[in-house]
Amino acid sequence: MSGIENLDLQSIVADIHRDLTPRLGEGKVADYIPQLARVDPQSFGIAIVGVDGQVYKAGDAEVPFSIQSISKVFTLTLALGKHGENIWKRVGREPSGSAFNSIVQLEHEHGVPRNPFINAGAIAITDLVLAGHTPREAIGEIVRFIRYLADDEDIVIDHEVAKSEAATGYRNFALANFMRSFGKLDHPVELVLGTYFHQCALSMTCVQLAKAGLFLAASGTNPLSHHSVVTSQRARRINALMLTCGHYDGSGDFAYRVGLPGKSGVGGGILCVAPGKASVAVWSPGLNHNGNSLLGSRALEMLASRTGWSVFGA
Ligand code: GLU
Repeated sequence: MSGIENLDLQSIVADIHRDLTPRLGEGKVADYIPQLARVDPQSFGIAIVGVDGQVYKAGDAEVPFSIQSISKVFTLTLALGKHGENIWKRVGREPSGSAFNSIVQLEHEHGVPRNPFINAGAIAITDLVLAGHTPREAIGEIVRFIRYLADDEDIVIDHEVAKSEAATGYRNFALANFMRSFGKLDHPVELVLGTYFHQCALSMTCVQLAKAGLFLAASGTNPLSHHSVVTSQRARRINALMLTCGHYDGSGDFAYRVGLPGKSGVGGGILCVAPGKASVAVWSPGLNHNGNSLLGSRALEMLASRTGWSVFGA
């Protein structure tokens, strides 16, 4: 079975939640800032929004969490809208094979990050989103864009998270300074990172996140709100980048196990796209050794096997 019409998706999400309940708390919660360290490690949420607009959810699917690097999908979409294919002069499209915040590769490659989803690449993308704006305006634009995608005016930034990110973001400052020294950032490092830390600090629920990603499952137009976001070609290409680069140095393993485009964040969330079928968001704060949600990845593996949705075949 591969369509959504033949599947009892509510039972599938409820079963996944039930099957994973004995394992809640596994993995290591990010503790580099206090706001993430104190998140309940037992939290678990899953939401599926079908391209037919139906919502299926289980667990803490309506509890907001810090989306962190999942925001990189949305700023990439925004930067492509503003600058088109010119963005590829600043950032590559290849998996990195290194940690999300690696600096070594950046030196070898003269300040051009491997892809838009590692930190250096996302910082370069945020620099492009900043063009012609103050950071305050750019942050406003990012929030408005995500509210438009999800068709939900309640989405907000957690300013305490943004402040903590800035206070501890030494490595991101190093990456940004490096790129600036190679002439690969147009704006001062403080302004770019001020914007970047706020995008990472967006707080969303699984349901909001799955709705925000729905355009990627539906050829670029959100079938719920009828908001046209990108062309089908661009949606396909963003999905390709999520599949190859969305899980840091665990992207190959995620493709092997789940077989769907996905983007994870250090807050324990994953946005996953089943093209033509549904957008899925999961949240479980315990991370695996690559910094991806341990049970979130497992939940998506179970979902892909129970639905036959892998892009590589049922
Ligand atoms: N704000 C985090 C950082 O830039 C995001 C990391 C992540 O979600 O992977 O370090």
